[in-house]
Amino acid sequence: MPPGPTLIAGGGLAGLACSRELRGPSILVEASDRLGGLVRTDETEGFLFDWTGHWLHLRDPGIRALVEERWLKDNLLVVARRARIYSESRWTDFPYQHNLRGLPPETIRDCLVGYVQATLGEEGRALRERPLRNAAEFIERHLGPGFARHFLTPYNEKLYCVPCEELSPEWGGRFIPRPSLDEVVRGALGLPQSAAGYNAVFVYPREGGIESLSRALAKEATSEVRLGTRLVALDLPRRRARLSSGEEIAYRALVFTAPLSAVAPLVEAGAGPQPIVEAARKLRSVSVTTVEIGADESGGERFHWAYFPEPRYRFYRIGSPSEVNPRLAPRGARSFAVEFAHRGPVDAAALVENAVAALCELGLAERSGIRFARARTIPVAYVLFDAEHAAARDEVLAGLRKHDVVAAGRYGRWEYSSMEDALLSGREAARALSG
Ligand SMILES: Cc1cc2nc3c(=O)[nH]c(=O)nc-3n(C[C@H](O)[C@H](O)[C@H](O)COP(=O)(O)OP(=O)(O)OC[C@H]3O[C@@H](n4cnc5c(N)ncnc54)[C@H](O)[C@@H]3O)c2cc1C
Repeated sequence: MPPGPTLIAGGGLAGLACSRELRGPSILVEASDRLGGLVRTDETEGFLFDWTGHWLHLRDPGIRALVEERWLKDNLLVVARRARIYSESRWTDFPYQHNLRGLPPETIRDCLVGYVQATLGEEGRALRERPLRNAAEFIERHLGPGFARHFLTPYNEKLYCVPCEELSPEWGGRFIPRPSLDEVVRGALGLPQSAAGYNAVFVYPREGGIESLSRALAKEATSEVRLGTRLVALDLPRRRARLSSGEEIAYRALVFTAPLSAVAPLVEAGAGPQPIVEAARKLRSVSVTTVEIGADESGGERFHWAYFPEPRYRFYRIGSPSEVNPRLAPRGARSFAVEFAHRGPVDAAALVENAVAALCELGLAERSGIRFARARTIPVAYVLFDAEHAAARDEVLAGLRKHDVVAAGRYGRWEYSSMEDALLSGREAARALSG
């Protein structure tokens, strides 16, 4: 590798985890005015809002130890999930697949019969015996037409803003619970069963919102940090990066945690092989606008977050951060984060009104008790796993690797993954570069 510092583009969890492990000189450039990426928290009128709910589900023992014994040591809450679903004018438990009880009998029948036919019956044989082509087939194969119609299809189409036929079968990965027949039947009858899904128990900071995590991690970063500085052009063959400050950096290696789709304009503004640019142009994503609402306590359903599959609600999920940790709202108040997915621009004021009206209709808040409501957009929030995704992503990653660029994190690797995954990915990038 040529001489020079390692350059890290992006100071989210992946960039920070990389920085704390890297040996040798490194420079971290972060477009925003503070570190943490999406793992950040803003305070307004005594309410703390993460950039929409960020709950830590820990699977890796090493990361768990770092979180529990170091980063959030005396600042840790352990929380048992209370997630709900609202459909057919009633509240049921999440995951839908494990909790049919409480739904109309006809819906329960559709889901049960469809599940048995898909997983065991003659009706599902064809899909069981050939490779699945898309998410619609995945849902049909593993859960059946009832679960598809009543929850998974409308929910995913609202979240990804495309038909499930356009999503690849890998779109949901480990995040889609796939119950056994026993679990489906237990859920329908309301018999006890262990909590299902990837996030049945999670941890969260006692104070300071999720940004406490990125702040703790930032203290361990070893790089020279440039805030408010964007990477604006990449000359891949010469291993040079131009920054928004006008500075040019000759790097030894680049750790790229910004969205992989941004490789196209960056290389176009600099230099590099055209196939990388063309592949990067194929990468599509979904934006999320969250309406953050601070409201007087007014009763109604209690949940940490709730899913809304039906098209009559424009949003796909409502979080209630103050239910997870009451310190996130002033006494006597409750907070909500209403999440809308979209591709392309939206009318933020219309979404704010839509969210407030829905909270009132659902009995979660009263209009006179709304203290504030405002919208915040994450332009690249969910990677779209369409037919082009896997090949285009692999081509960009492999092309970058040839030029000593290692991509890391949820958006650098262009995947659907968690905070823990971003930490692991940043660490892995550092280790790969440190040999
Ligand atoms: C709606 C939503 C809800 C989520 N909820 C959860 C949850 O409950 N639990 C969980 O574990 N995970 C959750 N996640 C996932 C989690 O946010 C990510 O996995 C994690 O934050 C990714 O970290 P990162 O460092 O890879 O990316 P980021 O946090 O996006 O960091 C990348 C950084 O790069 C910077 N950057 C971009 N372009 C440039 C440039 N040109 N030059 C310099 N800097 C640049 C950005 O400003 C940003 O700071 C959620 C994500 C979303 C979208």
